Amino acid sequence: EAARKLFAGEVDFLKGVVAMDGLPPDNRIEVCFAGRSNVGKSSLINALTGRKGLARASNTPGRTQEINFFTLGAERYLVDLPGYGFANAPVNVVQAWQALLKAYLAGRVSLRRAFVLIDARHGIKAVDEEILTLLDRSAVTFQAVLTKADKVKEKDRAKVLEQVRTRLAKHPAAYPEIVLTSSEKGDGIATLRAIIAGLG
Ligand code: GDP
Repeated sequence: EAARKLFAGEVDFLKGVVAMDGLPPDNRIEVCFAGRSNVGKSSLINALTGRKGLARASNTPGRTQEINFFTLGAERYLVDLPGYGFANAPVNVVQAWQALLKAYLAGRVSLRRAFVLIDARHGIKAVDEEILTLLDRSAVTFQAVLTKADKVKEKDRAKVLEQVRTRLAKHPAAYPEIVLTSSEKGDGIATLRAIIAGLG
C-alpha cells in the first residue's frame, strides 16, 4: 500500500550530473540503477514509475555520460547511472565514467541500495563484475535485478538464477534476494516498488 501510494505520486526528472559538484543535496533516501547498456534499464525505470519516456536509453557510445536524478515523492531520489560496457567506447569516456561513478558511490551517504540490472538471458558477465567489485569496495549494498524475464523460458530460469546466486556469493556487498523482472509483462515491478518503498 505504501509502495502503491509512493509510485502513484509525483516522479520528476531533476537533473543530469556530469561532475561531482553538480550532485543535488545528499538529503533524500536514494537508490541507484546500474547496468550494461541495452540491459533494459530505461525500460525498467519507466515501468517502475509508470512514466513512459521518463528515462531515455543512452545507447550512443561517446555520448556525455550523465548520472540522472529523479525525485520520487518528497523524500526519495531514483538515480539512473550511465550504462556501461559499450563495445567501442573511447578510452577517455570510459575513464571519465569510472571516475565519476567511483566518486559518487564512495561519497553518497544517503545511497541505500544499488540495483544492478542483469539480462536474464545471460546472467552475470565479466563486464558486470567490475561494478560489483566497485560496489563491494564502496560498501554500497547492491541487489541483482534480472531483466527481460519474458525472453527466458520457464525451464531455463533456474539455471540463470543459480549462476547469479553463485556469483553474488563472492561479493560481500550483495543482498541475496534476486528480483526477476519484465518491463514488458510487468513481472517483478510491484516487488521492486515495495523494496524501494521499504528502504528508510
Ligand atoms: P537501456 O540501454 O539499458 O536503457 O535499455 P532499454 O530500456 O533501452 O532496452 C533495450 C532494449 O531491450 C529495447 O529494445 C527494449 O525494448 C528491450 N527491453 C527492455 N526491457 C525489456 C523486457 O522486459 N522485455 C523485453 N522483451 N524487451 C525489453
